[in-house]
Amino acid sequence: MRGLIRCAPVSPDEPIPVFLITASEGVHVGTLGRLRPQVGGDVLTGIHILLTLKCTRECDHCFLHCGPSREATFTIGQLRTLIRQIEELGTLNVVYFEGGEPFLFYPLLLEGVRMVRAAGFDVGIVTNGYWATSVEDGLHWLRPMRDLGVVDFSVSDDEFHRLDKNDRRAEFARQAAQQLGIPTATICIEPPSVSPQAAEGRRGKPVVGGSVLFRGRAAEKLTAGLPMRPREELTTCPHEDLLSPERVHVDAYGNVHLCQGLSMGNIWEKALFELVRGYDAQKHPIAGPLLRGGPIGLATEHGLAMNDSYVDECHLCYAARKLLLPRFPRYLAPIEAYGL
Ligand code: SF4
Repeated sequence: MRGLIRCAPVSPDEPIPVFLITASEGVHVGTLGRLRPQVGGDVLTGIHILLTLKCTRECDHCFLHCGPSREATFTIGQLRTLIRQIEELGTLNVVYFEGGEPFLFYPLLLEGVRMVRAAGFDVGIVTNGYWATSVEDGLHWLRPMRDLGVVDFSVSDDEFHRLDKNDRRAEFARQAAQQLGIPTATICIEPPSVSPQAAEGRRGKPVVGGSVLFRGRAAEKLTAGLPMRPREELTTCPHEDLLSPERVHVDAYGNVHLCQGLSMGNIWEKALFELVRGYDAQKHPIAGPLLRGGPIGLATEHGLAMNDSYVDECHLCYAARKLLLPRFPRYLAPIEAYGL
């Protein structure tokens, strides 16, 4: 005879006590594990680790103002702690490594991929392919990644990332990945133009193409001369699911990004599980106003004096957030995301 008795947990974050009764082995006491922590109505399923903010390039469209002079890079110990926190969360399917340029710290990247795979998660990598000076060289860089079971290898390949029209390194990296049988994708960002609506169904998903989004460096470098919209029209956040994010980015400072430079909290101060469980978007001083009234709502609720018009929602959002930096440094972090 076997029987399973489940008892009510003491609180939503407590393990569910269980008594398992077997005829041969008596009564066993255990737990059914923690309840799945949720953000809003959804469960966090993807984390993108910003392994470093350092990059070989200083692209005009970069959301995080990455470049050769940036230093913020995970240590092995920090990666280990983050991966333990991801395991504790218990809801993740996939972990991405990106940056900055993650291949600049190749041994760290390799060890990170190994640790994530050992913890049982799928791994993806995003790179600009600067290291693939030929397909043959690319094979040497990527063979260990193939052996560890990387399931998505995305290469940024567009006018922003190429050194000149003869630069074929992204293409070599992609060819090497394909030869090794690693699932491969290309991230191609088009030159600046205005797209009034977010692609249907893509809110909260990683950016894999299309026009430049005017966040970060793009808001400062690529908006000149573009058509503007009255600020009163900019009443929603079209691209991120701030209420119930399914994926977030984490940087080496510990910031958990809801959108680049907009932090849910810091995992070096409070574990990811607790941050996710405690996240109340409406009470967040930046996400709350954005949810209630979009970028113009953010500016209005905080009494900011803004220009009459902006290229799009992200352009106004970035400008308003930069003005709010001194008031909300914990939530508008890291400062590098604002070009500082
Ligand atoms: S409106 Fe603001 S929060 Fe929303 S995607 Fe644009 S920059 Fe991010």
